Amino acid sequence: MLPVRADLVGISSYGAPQLDVAARLNVNENPFPLPASVVEAITQAVSSAAHGLNRYPERDAVELRAALADFIARDCGVDLPVEQVWAANGSNEVMHQIFLAFGGPGRRALTFEPTYSMYPEYARDTFTDFRMLPRLPDFTVDVKRAVDAIADLRPSIVILTSPNNPTGTSQDLSDTRTIAQAGLTYGAMVVVDEAYAEFRRDGVPSACELLGEFRNLIVTRTMSKAFGLAGARLGYALAADSRVVDTLHVVRLPYHLSAITQAVALAALANSELLTAQVQLIRSERDALAEWLNEQGYDVAPSDANFILFGKFEDRHAVWQHLLSRGVLVRETGPPQWLRVSVGTPEENAMFRDALLRAKEDQ
Ligand SMILES: *Cc1c(COP(=O)(O)O)cnc(C)c1O
Repeated sequence: MLPVRADLVGISSYGAPQLDVAARLNVNENPFPLPASVVEAITQAVSSAAHGLNRYPERDAVELRAALADFIARDCGVDLPVEQVWAANGSNEVMHQIFLAFGGPGRRALTFEPTYSMYPEYARDTFTDFRMLPRLPDFTVDVKRAVDAIADLRPSIVILTSPNNPTGTSQDLSDTRTIAQAGLTYGAMVVVDEAYAEFRRDGVPSACELLGEFRNLIVTRTMSKAFGLAGARLGYALAADSRVVDTLHVVRLPYHLSAITQAVALAALANSELLTAQVQLIRSERDALAEWLNEQGYDVAPSDANFILFGKFEDRHAVWQHLLSRGVLVRETGPPQWLRVSVGTPEENAMFRDALLRAKEDQ
């Protein structure tokens, strides 16, 4: 026997299948490869960073955090000093660090299901008690229940995911405000995970707008989705209070962001317009796909993200398997009768529609 932590014995690691099929529509990546000019800029940046790899990287990644602040100023019209911006290896690491800093033994985190399946893992790793309340049938958060639960359970972390994964649901700013206020009253950090923010429909606001109002608010974002940089591993947090960032500094591992990661992310941010040029197309493909699924008689959760949750299936695994047999990989996640499909290129989306039609014929 290995002296493994008792609560980890028999637990297998998280991960969606990575299969080499024609249409990989299961992990919400941006389906478009990087433009050649951006590949060139990244290659140059990496090459120049390579000369200095004998040295440890810039520990505080100040230049990168400033570039992220610039991007947020353009994307949300919110000006943040670098002291309120934090960066790490994917927003997964950011969230893990938030649990290290604000969770822990004797503490509690609260979120609303169905939602992102990684949150319980951060809680487990940090010995944080983890609670989930069900979302309403339309997949929005039951705000009254949330406020009552915050008063009752006294979590130190509340996670709101907007747009939510796997449902695509975005949260009204007034609801976020009410929950942030309850967090302020009862001593909780309120974290809004905005991994998919750049895909939101016109008129849907970002919680960044509330950073001036609630000092307990943290908004997390990532370059993995809209930026098409999932392979680079760069996520970030925007904190209403610079002391949050000071605390994340305390729990981070030394030199957590490699010089290569920093160089890649900086080169990407310098080209953010080129990199996010396909977001508009992905949004219109999403809306068209949602409409098509509706026409086919499926239930479709309204989506502000780059994926769609649709159903309902008596045997979703059979449908998943059928799609896979036609080279289309979607995700078996969320409520038991639903499937989630990432929005791909127009060609991939056509393959998906075709495969789903055939799956229906065969049912
Ligand atoms: C994809 C996703 C992330 C991003 O994770 P990275 O570590 O930045 O790649 C974060 N939150 C949610 C809800 C996601 O779906």
